[in-house]
Amino acid sequence: MTYFFETYGCQMNSAESAALELVCRERGWTASAAGEDADLVLLNTCSVRETAEKRVLGRLALYASLKKKGRPLSLVVAGCMAERLGEELKKRCPEVDYVMGTSARSTFPLILESLEKNLPGKAPPLSLGTGEKPVFSFSSSHLEEGRFRSFVPIMHGCNNFCSYCIVPYVRGPELSRDPASILAEIRLLEERGVREITLLGQNVNSYRWEAPPGSSSRFGALDFPGLLELLAGAVEGGPIRWVRFLSANPKDLSPRTIRVMAEHPVFCRHIHLPVQHGSNAILAAMNRRYTRERYLDLVAELRAAMPGISLSTDILVGFPGETGEDLEETLDLMEKVKFLYSYMYHYNPREGTAACRLPGRIDEKLKRERLSQVIALQKKHSRELLQNRLGSRDLVLVEGISRKNADELITRTERDEMAAAPGKASLIGNFAELTLSSLRGNTFRAKEIHLCPGAS
Ligand code: SF4
Repeated sequence: MTYFFETYGCQMNSAESAALELVCRERGWTASAAGEDADLVLLNTCSVRETAEKRVLGRLALYASLKKKGRPLSLVVAGCMAERLGEELKKRCPEVDYVMGTSARSTFPLILESLEKNLPGKAPPLSLGTGEKPVFSFSSSHLEEGRFRSFVPIMHGCNNFCSYCIVPYVRGPELSRDPASILAEIRLLEERGVREITLLGQNVNSYRWEAPPGSSSRFGALDFPGLLELLAGAVEGGPIRWVRFLSANPKDLSPRTIRVMAEHPVFCRHIHLPVQHGSNAILAAMNRRYTRERYLDLVAELRAAMPGISLSTDILVGFPGETGEDLEETLDLMEKVKFLYSYMYHYNPREGTAACRLPGRIDEKLKRERLSQVIALQKKHSRELLQNRLGSRDLVLVEGISRKNADELITRTERDEMAAAPGKASLIGNFAELTLSSLRGNTFRAKEIHLCPGAS
């Protein structure tokens, strides 16, 4: 039987889709090249923005029309939208066969079993729970086939309730993964030739493992810097040479975490530290629980501990009540930090969040104007930072063949910069060295690339 997945939203969804695909493959299912030809279509959804939900509803309408024309496919909606809307989704689109929220993922094998036992497209209703709230459980592996980089979820959910964000409502409270299970997944990734891992969580800095009473875990209590230290000891000298993590809420980034990163070169010299805004009034209205001064101090601490570290961020403009002065504060913070890149958005109210009820909505045209100011400044900074790096010799991980030129390899530095170089496909998945000799757009060009002895 065949499956086709469509994944929307964050890296957590990508990792969870990879874990669900493994379940399919372990049962002998094969991937289909297109949803139209598959026995099972699964949409792993995102609720963070209304536009993301609208896209999914559009895709559901397409698959529903195929089903109505007699195409025998079964339709599963998974992820945050499934968690948020539940069975309501089936009312909106009766062609949906199963709705599987983030915490009900363990029911996926039951869905597959049911599809295997029945005629294609004749998915029977299933009782997928006992009525109690299901509990999220981590998969044993998230490795996509043939990959040399992998996500490793270390926690799930979020307790922060930033006022604009739907995530705590759809993913539930924070749950940290047993370090023994994280280590076991990493061992498996090492055996399969993975070279780089990214630890994933909505807010990795608040990772906190406490062995439940009666648990057989060999670990008692462990916080995020403790976990980083443990992982550094486990991977250093092995095939996994680079470790990254996402996302790091600035309010929980501790001096110990910075120290552990600095002490262990296995942690890439790049950090994504979402600031969201540069004005204290707006940060407070967003319930971010740090100030611009605290953020700037953190940046200074990171740069003192790891000279040359690159920073990226998220910036949200046009939040209710934002004044021209607030925007100036954001531009000023950007000027002080100089981010390598930013994910920049303008605010759109999200039903069910605290900010949705806030007065002082900003006019759409003004929001777009403010966003374009932020984007223009970011482009200037990215360009300046990249130009300053020209001539540098760097270790890179070769990721693949350039889409524009089949004779060119695409690589990434540990600072999360892209570099292209002429080279053979046999280098893909290896560490190599090159000199950043010119720039085209935001991608470096190198004249030559050399496999790094002992680093491949
Ligand atoms: S930290 Fe804030 S923005 Fe991030 S997932 Fe949690 S509530 Fe959302």
